[in-house]
Amino acid sequence: MRTLIEGGWVVAFNGQSHEVHEAGSVVFENDRIVHAGGPYAGAADARLSARGKLVSPGFINTHVHTAGNGGDYLLLDTAKNDYRTANYMSFAAPLKGKMTPPPPEAVAALRAFVFLHALKNGTTTVIDVGGLRGDWDGYARLVDELGVRVYGGPPFRDRNTFMDAKGRLYYDEDANAGTQGLKEAVGFIKGFDGAAQGRLRGMLNAAQVETCSEPLLRACKDAARELDVPVHTHAGGNLVEFQRIMDEYRKTPIQFLADIGFLDDRALIGHAVFTTAHPWPRYPFGDDVRVLAERGATVGHCPYKYAKMAMTLHSFQRYVDAGVNVAIGTDTYPMDIVAELRWASILAKITDGDYQAGLHRDVFNAATLAACRFLRRNDLGRLAPGAKADILLINLDHLGAPVYADPIKTLVDAGCGRDVDTVIVDGKILIAGGRTVHVDEAEVYAKARGATQNYWRHVPAWRWDGNGVEQIIPPAFPIHAAR
Ligand SMILES: [Zn+2]
Repeated sequence: MRTLIEGGWVVAFNGQSHEVHEAGSVVFENDRIVHAGGPYAGAADARLSARGKLVSPGFINTHVHTAGNGGDYLLLDTAKNDYRTANYMSFAAPLKGKMTPPPPEAVAALRAFVFLHALKNGTTTVIDVGGLRGDWDGYARLVDELGVRVYGGPPFRDRNTFMDAKGRLYYDEDANAGTQGLKEAVGFIKGFDGAAQGRLRGMLNAAQVETCSEPLLRACKDAARELDVPVHTHAGGNLVEFQRIMDEYRKTPIQFLADIGFLDDRALIGHAVFTTAHPWPRYPFGDDVRVLAERGATVGHCPYKYAKMAMTLHSFQRYVDAGVNVAIGTDTYPMDIVAELRWASILAKITDGDYQAGLHRDVFNAATLAACRFLRRNDLGRLAPGAKADILLINLDHLGAPVYADPIKTLVDAGCGRDVDTVIVDGKILIAGGRTVHVDEAEVYAKARGATQNYWRHVPAWRWDGNGVEQIIPPAFPIHAAR
């Protein structure tokens, strides 16, 4: 079946870069694009009008957590009134032995919500760097059912994080858990890489640079080479982590990862905010940005999440200019990859004090082509003959695009996930008119809300101070819940 998308602003890939065709067309047959660019005169079995819309390659979201503790990620990062106000709630450092894993239904409900939320907001490929705790069959089934494209693998570490009774963070070594976790992750890849009609692919996720010992990180990288899969770890994510790695190895997290052979063109580094380039560590030795560039590693930049915590890369432009492959992720909520383009652009300008920083072109490339490099996918993140039919139709007219005259600038300056009208993955239309066509959205949201509330109810049981969500993260105004 041949489908013609016509009449929109088409972002086509010319083999070197994206270019835009006014009143262009895209044709796809089954899961592959056969034409992208100007008018198409051939026959088609179905037609989709893209008048007033941008026809864009689907975005690749390099930082998503579908884990069972997803409730954590719904909490606003900005008010994590916690240890050094670092993002430790995302580690959910509990009193040891007090946190019970969420029930399987809750895990499933949050996974479905995360995938759907990401899809609706313009993500077609999800890189799940922290999910997949248990029930892999259910996970693969869900990826199959929802139609999203996913790279994932169960995260592992051999140093768990806990709070003691006085609220002091500590790391608890468990070498066995690390070895076992890596073994399971390898098992997942062997069992599920290529599942969901090829849309589910495996990768290795060493949880965080400081929660994995050097032997575990080395073993992870060896396994990734053997399996020929990409790897991810969080590094340069917060100052505590930076300091711990300095204390342990007398190196920055980035230099440490480079020296143990972890950093290369198949490595994705979540955040990489705290490097020698960032003013807070005030560390004058070495050049982490150059190291990232020389090793060909990819940075998963999550601008909005970090901005909420009053932090950012120093800077998007500095990394890009140095030759670092910078990709974009959302990390927490909202998982609005379209809005992230604007955050990446604006934060680059503010950080550098230069309005020529964070150009529209560069942030759009970051959310499309950059991630494909470490995934080694020349068939994603672009609209070109032979590429996968992962396509977005994004409403632009109501943003003033006809007046603006540059649809990419319109998108970056004014767009958000709610402007995404149609989402096509692997040649299948999953979202049309902003609504899912194949799942009951209301049911997904209701179940996810139930799972989240259940998670939040249990917070005082594992918090060192016994505080609940209302104390840790007060609402903007008092909320009178419905009875
Ligand atoms: Zn993360």
